[in-house]
Amino acid sequence: MNWQTVIGLEIHVQLSTNTKIFSGASTQVGEAANVNASAIDLALPGTLPLLNKEAVDKAIKFGLAIGAEVNPVSVFERKNYFYPDLPKGYQTTQLDQPIVGAGSIDVTLPNGSVKTVRIHHAHLEEDAGKSVHEGFGDCSGIDLNRAGTPLIEIVTEPDMRNADEAVAFAKALHGIVTSIGICDGDMSQGSMRFDVNISIRPMGEDKLGTRTETKNLNSFRFMERAIELEVDRQIDLLETGGEVTQETRLYNADQHRSRAMRSKEEANDYRYFPCPDLLPVVVSHEHIEELRKSLPELPAARAERYQSDLGLPSKIAIQIADDTAASQYLDASVSKGADAKLAANWITGEITSRANNEDLSFSEIPFSADWLAELLTALKNGVVSSKIAKEVFEYSWQDNQSPNKVIESRGLKQMSDSGELEAIVDDVIANAEQQVANYIKAPAEKRGKMMGFFVGQIMKATQGKANPKQINQLLAQKLNALCE
Ligand code: ADP
Ligand code: MG
Repeated sequence: MNWQTVIGLEIHVQLSTNTKIFSGASTQVGEAANVNASAIDLALPGTLPLLNKEAVDKAIKFGLAIGAEVNPVSVFERKNYFYPDLPKGYQTTQLDQPIVGAGSIDVTLPNGSVKTVRIHHAHLEEDAGKSVHEGFGDCSGIDLNRAGTPLIEIVTEPDMRNADEAVAFAKALHGIVTSIGICDGDMSQGSMRFDVNISIRPMGEDKLGTRTETKNLNSFRFMERAIELEVDRQIDLLETGGEVTQETRLYNADQHRSRAMRSKEEANDYRYFPCPDLLPVVVSHEHIEELRKSLPELPAARAERYQSDLGLPSKIAIQIADDTAASQYLDASVSKGADAKLAANWITGEITSRANNEDLSFSEIPFSADWLAELLTALKNGVVSSKIAKEVFEYSWQDNQSPNKVIESRGLKQMSDSGELEAIVDDVIANAEQQVANYIKAPAEKRGKMMGFFVGQIMKATQGKANPKQINQLLAQKLNALCE
C-alpha cells in the first residue's frame, strides 16, 4: 500500500529576555542550581506574578514577522498538573485567547519548490524547572533556574508531508526567530524544542490517521531521524494488522529508538481556567505598529537581496539567509571588500564544514568575517592560489592568526618572479623526456589534457606556490615550441 505521512509541529521557543516572564529573576543559563529562582519562581505563598513586557513584545514580533493576526486581547490560563519541577502546581499559559492567531510561513524546500505551512496560533507561557537525576543517590534534585523562562509555543497545522519538509520548516522558523532577535536559537541548550505529531494514511484518503507525538527534539538531525523511525513504525503496525495508538513518545538519539511515554487514555485533564492573578493582556494598535516598524530584515527578504544585489544563486542565498549568524557573517565580509559569490561559496563550503566539525555556530568560529575578506582579497589578487588559500584558512583557524600574517610567516605567497618560475619549468621539461615525447606525438586536441602532468610537477617543485595562470602560459609556450 502507498502511505502518505502527515506531520504537524508544536515548537517551544525560549524568548531571549533578561528576566523571567513573571518575576525579576535572571534567565541566565549555566549558573549554580536555584541561583536564579525568586520567591515567585519557587511559588511561595503570597507572591503575585508581574508580566514581563519584553516577553509580550517578543511574542508580538513573532506574529508580525509571519503575517499572523496579533490579538489585541489575550488571556493567561492555569494548566493544572503536578510535577516536581513545577512548584506552583500549574503552568501559566494561554489557551482560547492566545496572543498570536493564525498565520503562515513559506518554506523553500531543498528541491527549490515553495511549501506554505499554516500556523494555527502561537501562545505565551512559562517554562518549567528541571529535575536533576545525577549526584543525589536515590533521590532527585530540583533546579528551578529555568522555571518561569518565557516561551512561545508555536502550533502548526498538519501541513507537512515528510521529514524533509518538516526539517526545512524548522530551519526556516529558526531563521525567523533568530533574525528578529526574540530567541538565541541555541538548540543544544534547549532554546528551541520541537514536538513532532505524526500520522499516516492511505494515499488519497482525506481523513487523518491516528497520530503520535514525539516530544522535545532539539536538533534538526534528530528530528529527521525520529520522523523516519516513527513513520516506519506506523507503516509496520498498519501493514501487519495492528493499530496506531494515540500516545506521546520519547526518542532516544543515541540508540535511534523511541518508546511510548503515555497514551491518550492516561492523558491529564488539565482543568484549565483563567488565571485570577493576571489581567488580560491588552495591546494597543499603536504599540503593534511600533513593533512592526522595529522589525529587521527577515530571512525571505534577505534571500531576495542576496540574489538581486549580490547575484547569488537561489539555493545558496536561501541557505545563508535562513541562518542569521551566517548572514551577518556574509554581510560583514562583503562590507570589508570580499567578493560576494566567493564569500558565499566559502561560507557554505569550507567554513560550514569546519564549523560543523567543531560543533560551532557562525557567531562562535575563530575565523572572523574580516579575515575571510582578507583571505579572499589575497586570493583574488593572485597572492595565493585557491589551493593555498585553503591551507591559509586552516592555519588561521588553528593558530588564531590573520590570513595575511599566515601567508607572510609561512612563506605561502604565490611565486610571481617569472624568471625563477621559468627556470623551474625548463627543469621539469628537461627531466620528463618520455612525457615530452608523448606530448609531441599527440594530436593537438589531446595536448591540453596532457599538460596536467607538467603542471603537477611544477606545483610539486614549488610546494603549490606557483601561479597557475603563469605556469600554464609558460608551459604552453615552451611545449608548443618543441612541437614545431
Ligand atoms: P491537542 O489539542 O491534542 O494538542 P491539536 O489539535 O492542538 O491537538 O494538535 C496538536 C498538533 O498536532 C498540531 O501541530 C497539529 O497540526 C498536529 N496534528 C493534529 N492531528 C494530527 C494528525 N492526525 N496527524 C499529524 N499531526 C496532527
Ligand atoms: Mg495542543
